[in-house]
Amino acid sequence: MKQTKPLSDNIIFLDTEFSSLDPYKGEILSIGMIKMTGEELYLEIDHEGEVDQWVFDHILPTLKKEKIDRREAAEKILEFVGPDKPYMISFVSQYDSLYLYKLLGIEKNPFFRFPFDFASMMFAAGYDPDDFNKKNRKFLIELGIDVEKYKMHNALDDAKLMREAYLEFFKK
Ligand SMILES: [Mg+2]
Repeated sequence: MKQTKPLSDNIIFLDTEFSSLDPYKGEILSIGMIKMTGEELYLEIDHEGEVDQWVFDHILPTLKKEKIDRREAAEKILEFVGPDKPYMISFVSQYDSLYLYKLLGIEKNPFFRFPFDFASMMFAAGYDPDDFNKKNRKFLIELGIDVEKYKMHNALDDAKLMREAYLEFFKK
């Protein structure tokens, strides 16, 4: 593995679950964030609209926490992220960032203006991003990560797993 050193440690690892892959319809249902320090936040958010069938089958049954409304969620997220414009890293960041901006309002985005994608980092280093999430989870196992510790599709566990993978990956 080629030696690489990331630009900054001012990072928040983030994952969301959301209602649809259609960006006109989709809204955030839950969010998990974890900082380099290990400080974490997990929220589940009110959603009245329709959801994709896959989300209905696989995500809704896993949402168990008391839901909060969108305004309260936005306040908690802004407070957690703080004023330092951290870099957002998520796995395929397009949807996470888009639905987060829809929740907060783009003018309130507390992160650095470009979201960063861990799947792209894997691709650039010669790894297949499918080896992160798909059945074999080869990439994670090769890094020595105990994937059983993390519940897949729980936004906080997904964010924590990505943080551990990132730290191991750039340690090599
Ligand atoms: Mg997830």
